[in-house]
Amino acid sequence: MIRWLLALALAFTAAPALAEHHEEPPLTVEVLRTSAGSLHVNSALIMGERDAVLVDPPFTLADAHRVAAMVLDSGRNLTHIFVTHDHPDHFFAMQVLEDAFPDAEIVAHPTVVEDIWRSLPFKVVRWSPMLGDNGPAHPSAPHALTSDTIMLEGHELQVLGPMQGDHVHSTALWVPEIRALLPGDLVFNEVHLWLGEHDLDRVADWAESIETLSALDPDIVVAGHARPGLPDDASGLAFTAAYLEAWPMLVNSALDSDELQELVRAAFPTTIDVLDDFILVNSTEVALGEQPIWTE
Ligand SMILES: [Zn+2]
Repeated sequence: MIRWLLALALAFTAAPALAEHHEEPPLTVEVLRTSAGSLHVNSALIMGERDAVLVDPPFTLADAHRVAAMVLDSGRNLTHIFVTHDHPDHFFAMQVLEDAFPDAEIVAHPTVVEDIWRSLPFKVVRWSPMLGDNGPAHPSAPHALTSDTIMLEGHELQVLGPMQGDHVHSTALWVPEIRALLPGDLVFNEVHLWLGEHDLDRVADWAESIETLSALDPDIVVAGHARPGLPDDASGLAFTAAYLEAWPMLVNSALDSDELQELVRAAFPTTIDVLDDFILVNSTEVALGEQPIWTE
């Protein structure tokens, strides 16, 4: 009788736990929205039950410490840090995370690793004076991935690209089981797009990349840069597509970069910039031939 009661009690306590377990997604995503100093880059943590993978360390040391705190608070063991592309706002402060999580592998697509090693010396010259004490003393580069998959507790995270985004070699991470897209700077949301490395062919190529990513039909999209307060959903894909579609027409109807800035601001009135209009001013000057295309 006692044994029977015990079995009954166990059955009752076990049943709700099992039901809950089935409703939980296999993986979850937490996003840290960095400060204006880090150009509002989003650092994302993909979490399993015990382990986690971080996408894109931020620009400043301060924001990297905030990302380290997010990882520690998650209670997960950080196995990988994935860098989407060779722009310093997506990897510069990784030394903080290297120190905090020495067992985590810092990885990127081989092309991205090559890009970073090539451009690191002049990135340090360009950005270190601006960052001052909030910049890394010795920025370093990730290791090259040997496959296009990162495994997280048996779940596949797929590396997409390189393809044209705000950088010619942009990559994304795609998590099919939860339809989550971590696209780095292939996707912006209500932040002016960086078009300082683009002629109109590259703008068209970027629009094609957005079509490819939209075809995945993601539920979660963590834009590389987003205006604070926006959701992590497909609205970033729609914003980026609309901006890339409008850009060539606006460029063709402007006489100089000042006029182009006015036209873009009028077309996208809630869209913000970073670093004192850095993105829009430089992108429009490049578009109108007032300064050469940036090489990053
Ligand atoms: Zn960026």
